Amino acid sequence: MSSHPLKDSLRRPIRDLRISVTDRCNFRCSYCMPKEIFGDDFAFLPKSECLSFEEIHRLTELFVGLGVQKIRLTGGEPLMRPNLSDLVSRILSINGVEDMGLTTNGLLLGQQAERLYDAGLRRLNVSVDALNPELFGRMNGRGIKPAFILKQIDYARKIGFEIKVNMVVQKGVNDSEILPMAAYFKEQGITLRFIEFMDVGNDTGWSFKKVVTKEEIIEQLKNAYELEPIDQNYFGEVAKRYRYKDSDAQVGFITSVSDSFCSSCTRARLSSDGKFYTCLFASDGFDLRQMLRGGANDQELLDAVTSVWEQRIDRYSDERTEQTANNRKKINMSYIGG
Ligand code: SAM
Ligand code: SF4
Ligand code: SF4
Repeated sequence: MSSHPLKDSLRRPIRDLRISVTDRCNFRCSYCMPKEIFGDDFAFLPKSECLSFEEIHRLTELFVGLGVQKIRLTGGEPLMRPNLSDLVSRILSINGVEDMGLTTNGLLLGQQAERLYDAGLRRLNVSVDALNPELFGRMNGRGIKPAFILKQIDYARKIGFEIKVNMVVQKGVNDSEILPMAAYFKEQGITLRFIEFMDVGNDTGWSFKKVVTKEEIIEQLKNAYELEPIDQNYFGEVAKRYRYKDSDAQVGFITSVSDSFCSSCTRARLSSDGKFYTCLFASDGFDLRQMLRGGANDQELLDAVTSVWEQRIDRYSDERTEQTANNRKKINMSYIGG
């Protein structure tokens, strides 16, 4: 990295790169890929438009040269991308990559966890929104039972993975699951992270009224547990963490709506078709695939990424109103990844 680390116009460095490896998914969570929109005739990206592993590797190396240290693989459902473990080993071979994680719905872990571990991956975030079988089946839109995903989590843990669980909480949908989820994962010693329902994309029927805030969740947890806050691990850490007083288990909160964290947002995003986004709530991205396939050299790519990041002014969540949430064109979560 140069002696003048790349900063955006609000002086935020570029530290994290979230790579979406596919826009496809085997679930249809209503808050992300509602069935009515993502039906059988939905036009997902053709394979030729998705970046190859060579292209992702080349871009990642350039991003690391500009300051990126942490990589997250996401999607769509990243485990649907064939031979994902090859990408994992390629990325981990890049000098300067200090940390790598993968976010998944867990459905295909049984088939892939071992290969991913052998490739060097150590951290998984698995999304589980409820333990009630009927509710979970409805929320994932595919009737998948929670017991199956919990089994995949057990299996991945036995292999050696460090696991965190993500739960998106929606008012009147799964807020009744807060305590059962907390009890189960506390017992397991797995960190559960409550995610406030966000207005990503334009198709999920989001409104402030459907958000359950961190404070509301803590109110519920306090009925059963004593919690104490834990200091931030590093600049830009997204989750606000708490420890149960009577155990080593932790809970986290991603407070994108009630207590936004744009001022320390160091995250860049790469879509599966090679667009570079500087915010989860962006309308447009910068087309790096066109440059790559048009024969751009490394310096030209570096200059392009530098220029986009230097002009970055995003702070969507700091400024969110019901108006911006429902009237602005935004990319879908399944396209850009969480
Ligand atoms: N398919 C994988 C999964 O579900 O873990 C990875 C991609 S998914 C888009 C990444 C994360 O975003 C998941 O934890 C998911 O629950 C979360 N997510 C999706 N839509 C969301 C929304 N509208 N608000 C908050 N979180 C959301
Ligand atoms: Fe698929 Fe993940 Fe979106 Fe659910 S949240 S539809 S599992 S991409
Ligand atoms: Fe970062 Fe955009 Fe989220 Fe703010 S709204 S934290 S700038 S991704």
